[in-house]
This record gives sequence, structure tokens and C-alpha cells, in this order.
Amino acid sequence: MATTSCDVAIVGAGLGGCFLAMLLRRRGQNVVVIEQGPSIPSAGADFLKPPGLRVLARHGLADLVGRHGLRRDHIRYYHDGDPIQDCRFPDGGFLIRPYRELVELIYTCCAMEGVEFWFGAEIGDIAVGGGGVEELTLADGRRLRAGVVVGADGTRSL
Ligand SMILES: Cc1cc2nc3c(=O)[nH]c(=O)nc-3n(C[C@H](O)[C@H](O)[C@H](O)COP(=O)(O)OP(=O)(O)OC[C@H]3O[C@@H](n4cnc5c(N)ncnc54)[C@H](O)[C@@H]3O)c2cc1C
Repeated sequence: MATTSCDVAIVGAGLGGCFLAMLLRRRGQNVVVIEQGPSIPSAGADFLKPPGLRVLARHGLADLVGRHGLRRDHIRYYHDGDPIQDCRFPDGGFLIRPYRELVELIYTCCAMEGVEFWFGAEIGDIAVGGGGVEELTLADGRRLRAGVVVGADGTRSL
């Protein structure tokens, strides 16, 4: 099977992987994102707190993300029905937006800007040499050669 070459291969199409892919693509890098699932993930950060909102704003995504979200400035935590802690967010509050929608927005920007996504892509082998990853071989035999390989594959990173 043919080998694909790219500047950067990103493993994982979650918020981290998609966002990084978008930034690298905007800097002219040729990026391939490998995702084991059939599509972008659905479970994750539904609450966007101020640091995350600031990052999105810095890259021109604040309006797009904020338009359909719920703005709140107060979280009350409960344990067995009793309130145990209050957190307040005075400077603009936080945003509630389903993770899937958030990742989908960034995924759509990536896809429009030319990032290639391989879904249902399980890694079979990682060839290491010269101080880094040289080539990824997928379970279906496809091979990917990248200048840099980034693991954005969540808490149980391969
Ligand atoms: C239920 C839940 C609720 C959360 N709520 C919040 C919240 O409200 N606010 C907040 O700030 N944070 C929250 N978090 C944490 C937040 O979701 C994570 O910090 C964030 O998703 C991390 O993004 P990521 O892109 O690094 O990883 P992920 O979103 O986990 O994405 C990793 C991707 O990599 C893929 N992958 C994994 N292994 C491989 C492999 N070997 N090959 C190919 N692909 C692979 C996975 O399928 C997944 O799509 C929550 C997390 C969970 C699970």
C-alpha cells in the first residue's frame, strides 16, 4: 500500500488535535490527523472556562463558539444534595457548549483549510529511528511518514 507523507501527523481528533491542526495549517504546514473513532469524539469539555475562551478569542473563534453557547458566571457544586462549594467567574463568565459541537466547529475550519483526516484509523506499528518517530503503519496497511508526530490522543496516550 502507498505511503503518505506530510509535515505533521497528529494522533487524535479531539479538541487538542483539531485545534493544533488548524493552527499548523494556518502556518502552511501539511497536516494529517489520525483518529481511531469513526468521527470526532463527543465526550469532553462542555464547560469552557476563561483561559480556554481567551485562547479561542486569540485565534478569531470567540464569536463562532460563543454564538450558540450559554453564558454563566457561577457554578455551585453539590455532594449528596448539599451545596459544598461556589465558584464565581466575574470577568465575562464561562460558556456551556456541548464538546461535540465545539470540536465540530474547529474540525470544519480544519477541513475547509485543507487538513486531511483519517477516521477509523488504528495504529498497528510505530517505527522509531533517528531520535523520533519515522513512520506510522495503520492496522489496514496504510503508512504515514511525517516530519513530526504529535500525540493528541488523550489521557491514555499511545
Ligand atoms: C465526561 C467528560 C467531561 C469533561 N468536562 C470538561 C469540562 O466541562 N470542561 C473542561 O475544561 N474539561 C472537561 N473535560 C476534560 C476535557 O474534555 C479534556 O481535557 C479534553 O477533551 C482534552 O482534549 P484532547 O484533544 O487532548 O483529548 P480528547 O478529547 O480525549 O481526544 C483524544 C482523541 O484521540 C483519539 N485517540 C486516542 N487514542 C488514539 C489512537 N491510538 N489512535 C488514534 N486516535 C486515538 C480519541 O478517540 C479521541 O478522539 C471533560 C472530560 C470528560 C471525559
